[in-house]
Amino acid sequence: MKKEQLQYPPLPPAVTGRLLDWYSMHRRDLPWRESTDPYRVWVSEIMLQQTRVAAVLPYYRRWMEALPDVAALAAVEEDRLMKLWEGLGYYSRARNLQRAAKVVMEDHGGRFPDTFEGLRALPGIGDYTAGAVASIAFHRPVPAVDGNVLRIAARLSALGEDILSPGGRRLFTDMVAELVPPDRPGDFNQALMDLGATVCLPNGQPDCGSCPLAALCAAHAAGRETDFPVKRKKQARRREEMTVYLLLREGRIALRRREARGLLAGLWEFPHIPGTLTEEEAAGPLDRWGLTPLQWRQRITARHIFTHVEWHMTGYLLEVRGTGADFTWADPAALETLAVPSAFAKYLEAAKAALAQRRPASSPS
Ligand code: SF4
Repeated sequence: MKKEQLQYPPLPPAVTGRLLDWYSMHRRDLPWRESTDPYRVWVSEIMLQQTRVAAVLPYYRRWMEALPDVAALAAVEEDRLMKLWEGLGYYSRARNLQRAAKVVMEDHGGRFPDTFEGLRALPGIGDYTAGAVASIAFHRPVPAVDGNVLRIAARLSALGEDILSPGGRRLFTDMVAELVPPDRPGDFNQALMDLGATVCLPNGQPDCGSCPLAALCAAHAAGRETDFPVKRKKQARRREEMTVYLLLREGRIALRRREARGLLAGLWEFPHIPGTLTEEEAAGPLDRWGLTPLQWRQRITARHIFTHVEWHMTGYLLEVRGTGADFTWADPAALETLAVPSAFAKYLEAAKAALAQRRPASSPS
């Protein structure tokens, strides 16, 4: 890291030692910490973006059983990949994992680049992930700065720079970079991650009584912990209403694939159209799809919140007959293999229940 004249008061150098001592006693026991294999570190870091540790654990285990190394990830079929990711959200992360795996296989002979810059050049790897993998797997003395670390740095320094602005991010990243020890960079970065996850918590009062850095923290000294970090106001989310169709035909349900680009790209979904329609209005598009309603069985409402948009959904479960040539008609077994995003979780559950009711009575129980 380039040493230049700092434009801010540096964080106390004693932070590093106290943090490492605390980490030796309190580190979280997590499956991806059992080795420093860059593949494992990388997959876990990507899964943990925007997702809680407890939610990631079963996905990580399943993923490592199915795809134990970068070669397996590069070669896996897309539907299988998406199925392994189903429910984690932000599906472009899974696609980028595979794109990067292919680059590692084709351009690097199956070995991960071992520098921050080399890792940063891979698809889907930003500064944080490159820093985490470079420091944990390759012992490079670089920081890994995410929202948790920005929050800690803002509180330690009690600086009111906006952590969401490029300038604020740069400032706090530089402050943390000064503290990374050359002998234990991976431990240092993981210690900050653990401190942010268990002690210096977001939203509400941090647990300063348990914090190894309390005596060095400017926000704590001033009793102003919750004034930091400063963030600009988020834009309000866009609201979208839609009518979802759970179309049952002879023991199968209609699905279609989403566009290859954009939100939830390439995943499977139940047909839907914009707007909230009454049952009578919802019958209109069936004709266009070559379908005739036989029995309207259920109305199900659901809501899903993404980062920038909220979906407010009204769904109809109904029996139909006809061609429905625009759709893939999935039986219960196919429904288990196709990746349907968690935005449709309530409808997926209803579809499975409806299909299960139709199972032949002669099936073994
Ligand atoms: S003393 Fe409190 S505010 Fe300061 S770093 Fe520790 S937990 Fe965070």
